[in-house]
Amino acid sequence: MTLFHETQGRCPVCFSSVILKKLRSTEGYVAFDLDYRVYARGADPVRLLIQRCDSCQYTEYVTDFLKDVSPAVPDCMARNDYRALLKASRSSDFPLVALIKAAKDEGPERLAYCYLRASWFAGDLGRAAEEEQYLHQAREQFQRALSGAADSVNAADSGRLRTTYMLAEIHRRLSLWEEARAYLREVDSLEFAVLVRDQFNLIQRKDALRRRAKSSR
Ligand SMILES: [Zn+2]
Repeated sequence: MTLFHETQGRCPVCFSSVILKKLRSTEGYVAFDLDYRVYARGADPVRLLIQRCDSCQYTEYVTDFLKDVSPAVPDCMARNDYRALLKASRSSDFPLVALIKAAKDEGPERLAYCYLRASWFAGDLGRAAEEEQYLHQAREQFQRALSGAADSVNAADSGRLRTTYMLAEIHRRLSLWEEARAYLREVDSLEFAVLVRDQFNLIQRKDALRRRAKSSR
């Protein structure tokens, strides 16, 4: 059974009371994709990561929802891009979270994952152009994250490898084969060995589709 832990709090933007539902456990994971999207038996755990305030439409990860915000956040929510997204038919709320996180200046990696997740839900609805647009936005943010990591002293850490691997996956999904191969060659670590082999095989066949990780079956 999918279990929630409920927390009563106040929206940090409009101060309305909100009940946050935080996922405690799922019915177990059944598989994961090459980009680490997980599938559970019950409710989709990824959709449950975020919540929107019914009064002001502030949208954030449940874990970050109650934290105080700077004036940059209500400014962002008053902007045309945020309001247009609210009115549009949405495949998910992750693009809204991406705008909030950009206003909070939380860095490229967190933005990258918002756009990656946005691409999953656009893809689920068969909205190919939207899926591709979000993959491009994820790519841009992962590249920013990688160039930031190159300047840091911890350049060889596992976070950097993971970002490089994600860039390989996204370039494959966008049919940018040579770039995908170049990123994969940078991921020579035991942790990613099976995934890297699967990726090289898919690139060889020019397969740009979302794929399950074989090791997840
Ligand atoms: Zn609110």
